[in-house]
Amino acid sequence: MLIVQKYGGTSVGSVERIVSVAQRVSQAAKAGNSIVVVVSAMGKTTDGLVKLAAEISKNPCRREMDMLLSTGEQVSIALVSMALQELGQPAISLTGAQVGIVTEAEHTRARILHIQTERIKKHLEEGKVVVVAGFQGISSTNALEITTLGRGGSDTSAVAIAAALQADFCEIYTDVPGILTTDPRLVPEAQLMSEITCDEMLELASLGAKVLHPRAVEIARNYGMPLVVRSSWTDDPGTWVTSSQIKERSLINLEIARPVDSVTYDTDQAKVALLRVPDRPGVAASLFGEIARQDVDVDLIIQSIHEGNTNDIAFTVFTPILPKAEAVAAAIAPVLRSHKTNQAEEAEVMVQQNIAKVSIAGAGMIGRPGVAAKMFATLAAAGVNIQMISTSEIKVSCVIAAQECDRAVAALRQAFEIEGEDKGDKEKGRRGDAENPFDEFAASEYPRVPVSSSPVRGVALDMNQARLAIRQVQDRPGTAGKLFGLLADHNISVDMIIQSQRCRIVNGVPMRDIAFTVARIDAEAAQKMLQAKAAEYGWGEVALDQAIAKVSIVGAGMVGQPGVAAKMFEALAQHHINIQMIATSEIKISCVVAQEEGVKALQVIHAAFGLAGSEKFIVPA
Ligand code: ADP
Ligand code: ASP
Ligand code: MG
Repeated sequence: MLIVQKYGGTSVGSVERIVSVAQRVSQAAKAGNSIVVVVSAMGKTTDGLVKLAAEISKNPCRREMDMLLSTGEQVSIALVSMALQELGQPAISLTGAQVGIVTEAEHTRARILHIQTERIKKHLEEGKVVVVAGFQGISSTNALEITTLGRGGSDTSAVAIAAALQADFCEIYTDVPGILTTDPRLVPEAQLMSEITCDEMLELASLGAKVLHPRAVEIARNYGMPLVVRSSWTDDPGTWVTSSQIKERSLINLEIARPVDSVTYDTDQAKVALLRVPDRPGVAASLFGEIARQDVDVDLIIQSIHEGNTNDIAFTVFTPILPKAEAVAAAIAPVLRSHKTNQAEEAEVMVQQNIAKVSIAGAGMIGRPGVAAKMFATLAAAGVNIQMISTSEIKVSCVIAAQECDRAVAALRQAFEIEGEDKGDKEKGRRGDAENPFDEFAASEYPRVPVSSSPVRGVALDMNQARLAIRQVQDRPGTAGKLFGLLADHNISVDMIIQSQRCRIVNGVPMRDIAFTVARIDAEAAQKMLQAKAAEYGWGEVALDQAIAKVSIVGAGMVGQPGVAAKMFEALAQHHINIQMIATSEIKISCVVAQEEGVKALQVIHAAFGLAGSEKFIVPA
């Protein structure tokens, strides 16, 4: 068998550990396998190099950063190769350039275009273990400019090499026994999963679970590469990341080939919005708790930023259950109101029928802000106004008027070059269809997996996000396209996007607020840029809050299961944690909370879904 094994920084963090890695590798080779090893820099080497650069320059040139950071891996490949040779196992180390890992010329965040396999194959045929430097590549075989793939990128190198070599599988060796229900450093009672789907892992990885680089999962998914995460210290089986069978895919433009795989729509949706609900812990919990008790399954949920002291919460449901959902909302609105303190305005229920949800999906949109922007611009060009936006790492959904759905879908298919079958609601099963809960599941792009006892598989925390809110953005087709187009032009990826439901008319023009989260390192630049454009684009103040945390639950089993959101919100309410923003996609729910409450929020949610085990994990230093 041909196996690619990747060892992370901790696993090669000392001479002793390098020797034990070499022992594991040579055992696998002696068993008759061809082995390619991909390694990270030793321990915290890369962090150390980043720090050194920071001492010299506040804003170092990105080319020089790549020159610097790529050295870490060069040290470890040489040492691992020596350790193998010491054990009598023929081995050779190769840098990214020597292999021919060709990437875009984007320094510090390059995507892999293709990988030359001749040299690796030649050495494998000679009976050598090939030890390849992770995280690095070259811009082209002529220019030989050294690039890096972004922090944590060795996972991506490993899976890409496995795909290029058509390896039997790819093993990621790290300092935990596999993929756990959450980060064991924050929740020692986290439990190991024996397997997880690529879709779930993509969400978890992009929502903060750094055990796998999301781009590595993307490649595994696109090429159907079996992937397993295991401990460097034990022989335990670890966690398999499973992918459903995929179409043949070219190995050229490996990471950039096709950002969008499908355009889907659902016309039988209705929206319920509660405007001006009080901004305090427990509000979302009581609303969605009651909705769950009535067995109403909600699809998208968004809660927008608060103006003054109030929030707007909106959700969509399958039209036939709208009366029930509306009744619950109407019944709960006065209850929420009565709790309010010095609130002049009253909460209000707003219902809208005849809406449709259109979505684009594809793993290739990860970290490519231009894709969502293109969707918004395409809808604008087709004259379609966007009422709600919900994003996940691999999907963007927009709620629009139902009568505009056909036009929207046609425009999106054309823009993203999607031919072929109609992926609409007609062939889909239904949410809330109690007789056959697997219908939608089976018809959707998610593979059929055994649903564990909890609909939630994992919980993740992202402490590296910041929130931007733009007041008074014009509510007309094209606004989202322009706004997110601007951010995309500056290479800023947007995560949660939420438009307020409330609409204010200013000089005859309807205005809404729009809030979204971005990586904290991009936040100030984004704010400055958007402020500079405020006059030209006619929007108001751009507020920035850096002190946020995003906590998310992920699980394919939450599709068609009422009550999951309510449980999450209730857990937060019980611990008096206020929810600042909510956004959902089919298989995830994310809440923004104050940064200092992030870890607590993660812990209480993890416990609420019964994910905690009796054993405690101690992650070795
Ligand atoms: P490596 O250096 O091997 O690439 P990383 O530090 O990048 O290792 O990733 C492993 C770490 O990911 C673990 O030590 C753990 O703290 C963290 N982690 C976060 N979420 C999870 C999760 N759901 N399951 C396992 N580990 C997780
Ligand atoms: N050494 C690089 C980093 O720390 C790549 C990796 O470890 O995956 O980001
Ligand atoms: Mg890592």
